[in-house]
Amino acid sequence: MSDYIVLVKQVPDVTQITDNAFDHETGTLIRTRLASVINELDAQALAFANYMKKTSNDQKGKIIALTMGPPMAEDVLRYALSRCADTMVLLTDKALGGADTVATANPLAFAIRKIVKDILKCDNDYYVVTGMQSVDGDTAQVPPQIAEELSLPCIAYVTGAEFKNSRFELTRIISGGSQVATPRKLPAVITVARHEYPLFAAFARARWANKTEVIQWGSADIKATHIGVSGSKTSVIRVFPPGKSTRKRQQVANAQSLAKVLVDSFTAGNGKSDLSTDAQTLRYILPKKRAYKFDRSFEGTKKEQKDYEILTNKLKELGITDVSQVDEAGREKILTAVEGRFHKKALEDMLNGFKLTETSFKGEVWIVAEHSGGAVHPATFELIGKARDLADSLETRVGVAVAGYEIEPLAKELIAAGADNIYLIEDKLLKVFDPAAHRKAIADCVSTYWPQIVLYAATPQGRMLAPMVSYSVGCGLTADCTGLDIRDNSRNGLVGSLLQTRPALGGNVMATIRTKNSRSQMATARPGVMKRLPSDNSRTGNIIKHKVQLSDEDISLEILKTELGTGEVSFGADVIVSGGKGMQNRDSYERLIGMLCDGLSKKLDTQVERGASRAAVEQGFTERVHQVGQTGTSIGPKIYIALGISGAIQHMIGVANTETIVAINSDPNAPIFKQCDYYIVGTVEDTIPRLVQVLETE
Ligand SMILES: Cc1cc2nc3c(=O)[nH]c(=O)nc-3n(C[C@H](O)[C@H](O)[C@H](O)COP(=O)(O)OP(=O)(O)OC[C@H]3O[C@@H](n4cnc5c(N)ncnc54)[C@H](O)[C@@H]3O)c2cc1C
Repeated sequence: MSDYIVLVKQVPDVTQITDNAFDHETGTLIRTRLASVINELDAQALAFANYMKKTSNDQKGKIIALTMGPPMAEDVLRYALSRCADTMVLLTDKALGGADTVATANPLAFAIRKIVKDILKCDNDYYVVTGMQSVDGDTAQVPPQIAEELSLPCIAYVTGAEFKNSRFELTRIISGGSQVATPRKLPAVITVARHEYPLFAAFARARWANKTEVIQWGSADIKATHIGVSGSKTSVIRVFPPGKSTRKRQQVANAQSLAKVLVDSFTAGNGKSDLSTDAQTLRYILPKKRAYKFDRSFEGTKKEQKDYEILTNKLKELGITDVSQVDEAGREKILTAVEGRFHKKALEDMLNGFKLTETSFKGEVWIVAEHSGGAVHPATFELIGKARDLADSLETRVGVAVAGYEIEPLAKELIAAGADNIYLIEDKLLKVFDPAAHRKAIADCVSTYWPQIVLYAATPQGRMLAPMVSYSVGCGLTADCTGLDIRDNSRNGLVGSLLQTRPALGGNVMATIRTKNSRSQMATARPGVMKRLPSDNSRTGNIIKHKVQLSDEDISLEILKTELGTGEVSFGADVIVSGGKGMQNRDSYERLIGMLCDGLSKKLDTQVERGASRAAVEQGFTERVHQVGQTGTSIGPKIYIALGISGAIQHMIGVANTETIVAINSDPNAPIFKQCDYYIVGTVEDTIPRLVQVLETE
């Protein structure tokens, strides 16, 4: 008999976001303007836990819903109780507010400990089940951090469970395919990526749920070690609206117009994508290398830059070349001249800021490499390109930590891509990616050499490993960054720290985050955003072999089956036609995509390749090797045609570098229409034959 502790979160309903939900000055969300709902993936996790309980024929197992939030978060607990939960626990306390993922995972883990002690009477046969991420944070960091705090195995991105031989075999999404795994011991943490069988509340149960008392705990009850703002290891320094998309988003009336658009776009070319946000900003220069020693143009916010500019001009006017020359009278003069823009304490801090010349963090800039089947993941190369840029401006080296078995041949490629030092951690037990074993290896290496920056690709593997490593070495982590820059906050004594910019609230806002209370600054970065450098085989570097003590005990999962795409696909083609779940079946995928590929290939006299969404692959419409997206291949053709594809973020990440995106979808509100250049509202069955006819005849 297993019990299930299901984590549910109350979030703003981001599907209903309108312009007036934002403060236009700051870009922050006005929470009261949006309804609060249960995080959709947590609702699916709840249904998944119920499915696990039912499918294992477990009458006695309890489902306990746990949430952390303000008193009104009680609503999501009642939602859970009215569906299938037996008990509900609300962790609420003002002291817990303003938390980042570390200060969220930590109290939740302590609350789980208390649930196990008080409610489950120390029975360790339980699962912690939760949605893979919440729509407001989108980080996917909290569950692996909880697993780390509780030393539990963690299986992330689960999409299915089968109860066999008295245990659950869990299917999960991995880079390039899918895998069936089971935790080697219980308890275990599971994050659910998809479960399409929602639960509904019966009337009598909903009434009971509304009358039942919630177990309420405050921070004193759980005695967590990291809570609220002070326990957090990152802080948000700026929130702003995302830049306007340069995609045209034009509806096309009919097949004739679409054919014209395709031919014109192919011949004219359209320039590159707009999804990459790691635009080159002013490249950072160390204070000691700046032409003018009072140059503070690398402050992290516009306000700080402006304040320093005003102060610098004043010092120039007063002929001051050394801040220690600014006496009391000089200070008064400056304060009068700036007319209250900053006060005495701020002036003092700014003057002290001028004295800083050394960077606040020390060490190399590192990438944690991802690889499988002897090949390095493309996102690792992109990150090395970014790391090179950061390390050059910080005047340090680029290191790559790579864990596995018989992986030394990878070093040459990593060095050619821009790395200086390769930290090789080789062990038979690291042959297959196991989150706990790889966490131990990487964390050990990081805490031996202490790089100042550690970057991971925001792939399913990186988003799992990074939170476990960062939590175990006591560092902050920012998820899914699309921009990374080095900047100062001289007034607060920080020089050369990493600013980490990422989309939040489903891409409705951007946030810039800085690491605090940490020896190393860590982030995962979105694949397809940073630029890979051209390989230079003449580059040289060092291989540093790092030994870690591992034993069979360190392996947390039993991997039962791995399915990866095999075969060759020419994703370098200029035109790629992809089919999604909207293609309905394999026959129609083959027939319609086949005819459009042939038609375009003849008309444009170019190679046209077939792609697919993950859902189409899972439905068996085509082979996995054709999958485009975050866990498939990232592509950058001249033209990408998406047929019956909704436009999920994980799919669109993979086509960000496309010049022209065209979509055909029967749903007039399909999200892809906001992310493409041209679209037709219509079924693929109607539209494609007409389009092919026009291509052939005109
Ligand atoms: C960790 C993780 C990684 C992932 N990685 C990837 C990835 O690499 N690539 C990827 O694609 N997805 C990935 N996904 C899945 C992704 O979230 C979406 O579930 C998936 O992209 C949806 O595929 P789809 O658009 O084909 O299906 P759906 O979202 O079901 O959309 C089908 C669309 O077809 C339209 N439609 C239906 N009938 C017709 C018709 N007759 N004619 C025209 N249109 C029609 C519908 O209106 C709908 O918009 C990942 C998910 C997770 C959690």
